[in-house]
Amino acid sequence: FSYENMSLDIELTIGVSKLHDQEKVDRVIRRAQVASKEASLRRLKVLHYHNKLGQDPELTGIIMSKLKLALDEGWLELAFQPQINTSNGDLFGVEALVRWNDGELGWIPPDVFVPIAEQCRLITPLTAFVVRETCAFYRRFNDNTGQEIAISINLSARNLSDEFLIQEVSSIIEEYQVPPRLVTFEVTETAIIGDIEKSRAALEDLLDLGVKMALDDFGTGYSSLVYLKELPFTELKIDKGFLVKDDKAQHNASLVEAAVLLGKTLKMEVIAEGVESLEMAEQLAGYGCEICQGFYFARPMSEAKFAVWYEGYDNKRNIIGKKHEITYET
Ligand code: C2E
Ligand code: CA
Ligand code: CA
Repeated sequence: FSYENMSLDIELTIGVSKLHDQEKVDRVIRRAQVASKEASLRRLKVLHYHNKLGQDPELTGIIMSKLKLALDEGWLELAFQPQINTSNGDLFGVEALVRWNDGELGWIPPDVFVPIAEQCRLITPLTAFVVRETCAFYRRFNDNTGQEIAISINLSARNLSDEFLIQEVSSIIEEYQVPPRLVTFEVTETAIIGDIEKSRAALEDLLDLGVKMALDDFGTGYSSLVYLKELPFTELKIDKGFLVKDDKAQHNASLVEAAVLLGKTLKMEVIAEGVESLEMAEQLAGYGCEICQGFYFARPMSEAKFAVWYEGYDNKRNIIGKKHEITYET
């Protein structure tokens, strides 16, 4: 509608929350507000509140204080998920994923506590912890096996605007003698939204260390192409959401093919995540995407489990032919 010569386009988001017996109404309203805020963030019209940890402001408070303790006491752990080069079956690298098993609350997923850490600035020590542990992991792995593998670490939006962190990261990488060319930092598009110039400067500071930068969850946002053009990413990580098998499988397949081509055209390394079946891996190989990460190859594992997995790893099993090219030849 129009207001003082301005044309306003108003959108409505609705959060829905059910009143259970004997419950206080203000609590139900608060949950509905949480759902509506989330709906607005996710650009949905209606969202039903679901009892996921972290969405409830009360639990957010509990998690914040527990997380501080968990960081101070060293209760967080890392899991490492292999990334496989399907052209030769070799282990290409690992992505480090943070894990937290709380004595009272049990396993709390990173999707829940990382955003909370971002809200209360615990994200700086959290990221420093992950970088240090991953570099230490690399050092032990390289000392034990003599092999060089790539390591990928997730960064949050706030990390990008933190100069101190970038310095710390640089000294940790040096301390553990990890060749910077083997380190990739993954950032999602949502970390970039906002000030593109500032993000570019932060990315360039990191690239100056000699590391690589990946655009994570590619395809989930809505203006990725602009970011690809404007920002100096060296890797593209195709989101697992593309690879789901449903009635849109064919449609998704075309998008994946286009995304791989886009990355390759821009001379970026393309990695697919969420690869859950041989079929998917074959399809990706056919499109020219050889680096795959997903449950089909291995789940994220503790360092001890990873060592056992690596010990028994037979790369020949994971050489995946370029099916499409073979079809053309015959
Ligand atoms: P992400 O960076 O997209 O990480 C990949 C997620 O996909 C991981 O979930 C992994 O366990 C899961 N995954 C791997 N293979 C498959 C598969 O074949 N199928 C399916 N369905 N899922 C698969 P996880 O570990 O729960 O992490 C969730 C998110 O939390 C990550 O998404 C990342 O955004 C964030 N996160 C995790 N660790 C860190 C960290 O150390 N720092 C920061 N800033 N964020 C982190
Ligand atoms: Ca990631
Ligand atoms: Ca991802």
